[in-house]
Amino acid sequence: MADSKGVLIFGEVVDGKLSASTLELLGGGRGLADTLGEPLMLVLVGSGVAACAKDGIAYGANKVLVVEDAALKEYTNDAYVNVMENVVKQVTPNILLMGMTPVVRDLAPRLAFRLGTAVSMDCLKLEIDSSSKLLLMTRPVFGGNARGVYVCDKAKPQMAAVRAKVMDPKAKDDSRTGEVVNVAAGLDASKLKMKNVATKKEQVAGIKLEDADVVVSGGRGLASAEGFKLLQPLATALKAAVGASRPPCDNGWVSPSIQIGLTGKIVSPSLYIAVAISGSSQHMAGCSGSKNIIAINKDPEANIFKEARFGVVGDFNKVLPAFTNKVKELVK
Ligand code: FAD
Repeated sequence: MADSKGVLIFGEVVDGKLSASTLELLGGGRGLADTLGEPLMLVLVGSGVAACAKDGIAYGANKVLVVEDAALKEYTNDAYVNVMENVVKQVTPNILLMGMTPVVRDLAPRLAFRLGTAVSMDCLKLEIDSSSKLLLMTRPVFGGNARGVYVCDKAKPQMAAVRAKVMDPKAKDDSRTGEVVNVAAGLDASKLKMKNVATKKEQVAGIKLEDADVVVSGGRGLASAEGFKLLQPLATALKAAVGASRPPCDNGWVSPSIQIGLTGKIVSPSLYIAVAISGSSQHMAGCSGSKNIIAINKDPEANIFKEARFGVVGDFNKVLPAFTNKVKELVK
């Protein structure tokens, strides 16, 4: 793409506000844009998203592009890919950043194909190479067993989907100024093949896994749905969300929506407590970005102890109640 310039963020609006991942991308994207001496832009696509444009500027953008259209109220990939293709071709950004969200998992590879570029999914770190000025994109490879650093040196924009909580948002500054530009969606309704016929909101009791600062997660070693329930008092005491490795989900002890790992959700909390989880690479792919891992496992050789900062070797039936009581005492 000729004369590519600027860092463009694909923003997402949840319940009328910029999503947490959008704020993180604005914080991280601001740093990349400053390093390159280029502008930071945010694009908001949807219906009723214009009200968030000012916040985009307050959180770091120089310019916000707003694409409002009733047809974009719910995400469908053919409409969003068309809109984003138009926006990117108009703006010609050097870098396009997206959050590693369910929408982006679907949208990003399709968009990259349309734009004739590549995308690095699930990035854990982004930096600018000091000599080439290219974006260095670090992401897990081989099921989380290693990390690879990628560059996109043959096409623009350089595209990355970034895991939650790897970038820090900037403090909101309402005195910042910037430009808000409306962009026509340019959709031809007759060409859209997909239609959203129903949306079901996942019912989450308590804190959402992806947003939780503390996650208490259980594995096959809990042995049953009853065993799994022992996690709840600890989660409640720590205001934590409950997660699981794959076997408890496959066995129907808990909802598949709380599976963490390669084929589940990716979390990066400050504290991840893994109870009776062996620490397979597929599980760690979903939680290795946690700042601290505590493991409770009866097998001293379990792989999870290699990943954990603190560990307790013991039967969860004994360790968990004592640990929970101590936590309750401390957080009182
Ligand atoms: P196990 O490996 O069976 O470990 C159970 C642990 O509990 C053991 O370490 C044991 O010592 C301990 N234990 C037993 N009893 C007690 C007790 N009383 N007290 C304390 N500790 C006890 N897995 C995921 O989690 N997420 C994914 O997204 C995922 N995706 C996958 C994708 C693919 C393509 C494949 C092939 C596999 C995937 N898996 C995934 C499965 C993965 O390979 C492992 O099988 C799974 O993570 C193991 O879960 P676990 O640690 O709970 O069970």
